Amino acid sequence: MAGGGEFGFIRTRLAPLARGHPAALDLTDDAAVLTPAPGCQIVVASDMLVAGVHFLETDPPEVAAERALRSNLSDLAAMGAEPLGYLSSIAWPAGVTQAWRDGFVDGLASAQDRFGLALLGGDTTSGPGPFTISLTLLGQVPSGSALLRRSARAGDDVWVSGTIGDARLGLEISRGALAADPVLLERYRRPSPRLELGVALRGLASACLDVSDGLIADAGHIAAVSGVRLELQAGQIPLSPQSRRWLQEAPGASLVTLVTGGDDYELLFCARQDCRASIERLGREIGLVLTRVGLVADGAGVALLGEDGAHLETGAGGFTHF
Ligand SMILES: [Mg+2]
Repeated sequence: MAGGGEFGFIRTRLAPLARGHPAALDLTDDAAVLTPAPGCQIVVASDMLVAGVHFLETDPPEVAAERALRSNLSDLAAMGAEPLGYLSSIAWPAGVTQAWRDGFVDGLASAQDRFGLALLGGDTTSGPGPFTISLTLLGQVPSGSALLRRSARAGDDVWVSGTIGDARLGLEISRGALAADPVLLERYRRPSPRLELGVALRGLASACLDVSDGLIADAGHIAAVSGVRLELQAGQIPLSPQSRRWLQEAPGASLVTLVTGGDDYELLFCARQDCRASIERLGREIGLVLTRVGLVADGAGVALLGEDGAHLETGAGGFTHF
């Protein structure tokens, strides 16, 4: 971007997103200066979204911004962290209009207001490549309390929040491949990072991550780093009424599509069986359905089991970039 235009854009459009946060120094300095609460560790997550890969080139700029910030926040939720702020690095595509840039900033503003966040810094550039957004989220946890993937134990329950598969169907709607449904479309466009749940699971969950690649693939990540096997019951996977209807009515519809679709941004977590009552109470308190979907066992990998105990074939289990 031309110098004057870039600095003008930072001053008039991005600086207000700092919301006067002391760490941001009104985006006038070389770097942010962040003070964590006493006794806390900083949790940092970075994610890049590329047009045509992580969102559709046809998605409105507000949607790209909301998806970027919300999906990044989901990584903080998965660690049990409360968000402190974020850095935003944006490569605008060639020929981007002012209205389009404004729409993107409006999307960031809307998402950060929803979750009480401030922009602490970043960079903007433009280039010949696709529109690319890289966000770095900063959060904090009391020292030693971050939720990790590596500590699931055989005998633990496996739980998942919310419903699985809606965003996969929402993506199909965005592509014009499925009839419009506002609930499913919203689940794809504006995922809900489960920040309140993540914080409440500190000291309760033995392992946790957010479902971004697909339920089966992500369960596999816990299995791999914890050195255990996750056995999930197909009949227990929580589905929305819309997904259930799709499953019953759409030609060729399969549960496998929903459990390997990804972009759910629900939390998949493990917990000792004596935590069941506490977790059920927690779900009622925060108004979020928490469903026990299986058990951690000795062994390796993930099994999706049908009603008769037979293994269901899930292929690669989810999305991988290469
Ligand atoms: Mg994640």
